[in-house]
Amino acid sequence: MDIHEYQAKDLLKQFGVSVPRGGIAYSPEQAVYRSHELSGGRCVVKAQIHSGARGKAGGVRICGSDEEISEAAAWMLGRKLVTHQTGPQGKLVGRLYVEEATDIAQEIYLGFVMDRTEERVVVVASAHGGMEIEDISADEPDSIIRTVVDPAVGMQAFQAREIAFQLGLDARLIAQAVKTITGCYRLMSDLDASMVEINPLVVTSGGEIVALDAKISFDDNALFRRPEISEMRDKSQEDKRETYAQDRGLSYIGLEGNIGCIVNGAGLAMATLDMIKLAGGEPANFLDVGGGASAERVLMSFRSVLNDPKVEAILVNIFAGINRCDWIAEGVVRAVTELDLKMPLVVRLSGTNEAEGQEILHNSGLNIITAPTLANAAEKVVGLWHETRKEGAA
Ligand code: GDP
Ligand code: MN
Repeated sequence: MDIHEYQAKDLLKQFGVSVPRGGIAYSPEQAVYRSHELSGGRCVVKAQIHSGARGKAGGVRICGSDEEISEAAAWMLGRKLVTHQTGPQGKLVGRLYVEEATDIAQEIYLGFVMDRTEERVVVVASAHGGMEIEDISADEPDSIIRTVVDPAVGMQAFQAREIAFQLGLDARLIAQAVKTITGCYRLMSDLDASMVEINPLVVTSGGEIVALDAKISFDDNALFRRPEISEMRDKSQEDKRETYAQDRGLSYIGLEGNIGCIVNGAGLAMATLDMIKLAGGEPANFLDVGGGASAERVLMSFRSVLNDPKVEAILVNIFAGINRCDWIAEGVVRAVTELDLKMPLVVRLSGTNEAEGQEILHNSGLNIITAPTLANAAEKVVGLWHETRKEGAA
C-alpha cells in the first residue's frame, strides 16, 4: 500500500527526521489559509497523488503570493495529473499540501528498499539527488552508495556515518545525517514499510538536513497489525480494477491489453501472459485465483476481469493440483450464465478431476471453447479475439 507525501512526512517526523512545516488543503481558499499559518514567506503547493515526478507535470509550484497559491491550487485540484509513473490515465488530485519553501544548497537521494538477492534492506544514496534513481544510475553511476543492513542488529550508527561521509557532507552535518538515516531505517522496520524514498533530501542554505519529498510503501501482508497505517489508505489513488479484486482476496494486477486471464498460481499466470503475447495478443490482467478455488471464487474472478471495459475475450487456464477441475468448471458455467457472458471464452483444464471438469463444460450447452494445452488455448483466444474485432469493425 502506498501513502501520500504529507502522510509520509508526518511519520518521518515521528522518527526524528526534519521535514518542512506544512498543512493539507482541499480548496484554493484553504491553500491560501494554510500558507498564512506558515512563516508568511514563499511556499510550495504540492499535488498529493501516489506518484513521483509530479514536479515535471506541474504538480509542484513555488508561490510568492496569495494569488499564485490560489491559481496553482485551482489548476491542480480536480485535475488528473499524468506523470510517467501514473500511466496515461493519470491520477486525480483531491488534496494539496502547502509547505514552507526551502532554500536548497544541495539535493541528495536517499532510499531504503528490500533487496531480494541480499534478502536484506539496502540503503541507496547519492549526492546527485533531485532526479530519479533510474536517471542517477544512468548518468552518475559512480555516485551511488549501497549499504546492506543486517536485520539482526538493524542499522548501526557507524554505517549511517559512513554513508554521510561518502556523500561528502560537511562535518557539521554528519550528526543530523545520521539521525535522518537511522530514523528512516527505524520507521521502515518498526512500521513494516517495504520502501522508503526521500528524494530529494536537502541540505538547506542554513545548514540543515530536511526531507523535501517522501515516498513510503507498506507491506500489504502486515497491514493487519498496523491499523494506524491502514487508515491512511486512499482508494481514489488505486486502480479501481485492482481494488475490487484485492479487497476480495484475489491477486490481481491490471494491464493494458484486451484478453482477460483467470489462472491458478502466480507462476502459471506469468507463463499465461507470455503465451498470449507469443500468440500475438495483449493480456488485460494478471489474476491468480489461488489454490482450492471454489465456484464462488471463480465467479468473483470473472467479475474482477469484467470490471475492465477493455476486456474483449477471456482465457481460463487451470492446472489443478490442490484445485479441482470440476469446481473450476462449475464456477465457469455459473459465471457465463449469471453474468450473461457474450465474449469469446477459452478454457484449458488440466490435472485433478480433469475429465469431470470437461464433462461439466460440455454438458452445459454453453459456448465455451476448450483447449488441450496452454499454447493451443492462447492461440485460440487470440484468434477468436481478432475475429470478433473484425466482425465489430465490419
Ligand atoms: P516530485 O517531482 O514528485 O518528485 O516532487 P518533489 O517534492 O521532489 O519536488 C520536485 C522538485 O521541486 C524538487 O526536486 C525540488 O528541486 C523542487 N522543490 C520542491 N520543494 C521545493 C522547495 O521548497 N524549494 C525549492 N527551491 N525547490 C523545491
Ligand atoms: Mn521527489
